[in-house]
Amino acid sequence: MEQPISVTRSNFNDWMVPVFAPANFIPVRGEGSRIWDQENKEYIDFAGGIAVNALGHAHPVAVNALTEQAKKLWHVGNGYTNEPVLRLAKQLTENTFSDKVFFCNSGAEANEAALKLARKVGLDSGVSGKSGIVAFNNAFHGRTLFTVSAGGQPKYSQDFAPLPNGISHVAYNDLEAAKAVINEQTCAVIVEPVQGEGGVIPADIEFLKGLRALCDQFGALLIFDEVQTGVGRTGALYAYMNYGVTPDVLTTAKALGGGFPVGAMLTTDKFAPHFSVGTHGTTYGGNPLASAVAGAVFEFINTPEVLEGVKHRHQYFLDALNTLNAEYQVFDEIRGQGLLIGCVLKAEYAGKAKDITTWAGEEGLLALIAGPNVVRFTPSLIIPEQDIDEGIARLKRALAKLAK
Ligand SMILES: *Cc1c(COP(=O)(O)O)cnc(C)c1O
Repeated sequence: MEQPISVTRSNFNDWMVPVFAPANFIPVRGEGSRIWDQENKEYIDFAGGIAVNALGHAHPVAVNALTEQAKKLWHVGNGYTNEPVLRLAKQLTENTFSDKVFFCNSGAEANEAALKLARKVGLDSGVSGKSGIVAFNNAFHGRTLFTVSAGGQPKYSQDFAPLPNGISHVAYNDLEAAKAVINEQTCAVIVEPVQGEGGVIPADIEFLKGLRALCDQFGALLIFDEVQTGVGRTGALYAYMNYGVTPDVLTTAKALGGGFPVGAMLTTDKFAPHFSVGTHGTTYGGNPLASAVAGAVFEFINTPEVLEGVKHRHQYFLDALNTLNAEYQVFDEIRGQGLLIGCVLKAEYAGKAKDITTWAGEEGLLALIAGPNVVRFTPSLIIPEQDIDEGIARLKRALAKLAK
């Protein structure tokens, strides 16, 4: 057999469009919550592929679903439906508020579908100019032009003007500010139950309840972007279940495929028919391979044992992080839900989150940031306690470099 082409980290700079600045090592293999790089150095994975690898790496449930389906049928296109996608739709609708699902390949596409559906529902309402979208500062909804415009970080959208218009942004967790901009012309409010990229900031329950009431009052769709919080991440199947506030539309991706690209927009029988044949579409969405993997991952996670395990691990993480922080005094606050955890740096360490994750990498730990001042952890939902212990020990060595 021919040798594979030899590649190094520096080739990234040679051949890749420079939108990312990856770490200076290349992971080549993973098992559970451990990863190995080209030099066979081992890392504990507290990043989970950015809240994606919900079952860790190479979990037999996902591997079996993928390989079994790979032998049968990969893709047929949406001129035909397929068994795995119908099974997955049944799982999602039976276990959530939803009645209908639109499948796609990513979080951005799920949100794009949600926002387009809201615009269509607004149009069909007959209320003139019912196209306004209310979103929140620091929100993240993806990188398409519509979703980056709905996102609340102008640095990601301003270079691409002219942007889709009719989108207003107000402060997150500020119900009065939302009240001031939601009216008869509003077709949707889009919100993350826990802002992920924006700094791991959970919504207040009164805020979400208030948005629900305002959407009901003005006939606007309440869209929960659960791309990061969904599929067990917060210890509930979906975060809306923690809050007892039910959206009209929910978007899910990341953990849904456990590492295989898949996304979905969930909605009800009331709104789904506003998308009729031809109004929206995708080539790969609902493809048998992705659906088979997602079905297996979803079934595995949606059990009391796994979801309780996430809550247990949340506390285990918090205890360990608080103990570390008592020694090093680097974090002002440790927050989040389930295994979506953010550690907010004290003012004197402002801007150092990226340095911490770089040092963590040197010590053999994969970790994330959520903005310049928050270190974020989104590990596998079934990470073993001994891997948490070992990861915390490595984090400790990284924090020691900071404290110096
Ligand atoms: C990651 C993320 C997205 C975008 O998902 P992609 O799969 O990268 O398109 C959207 N919303 C939230 C809340 C996310 O965390």
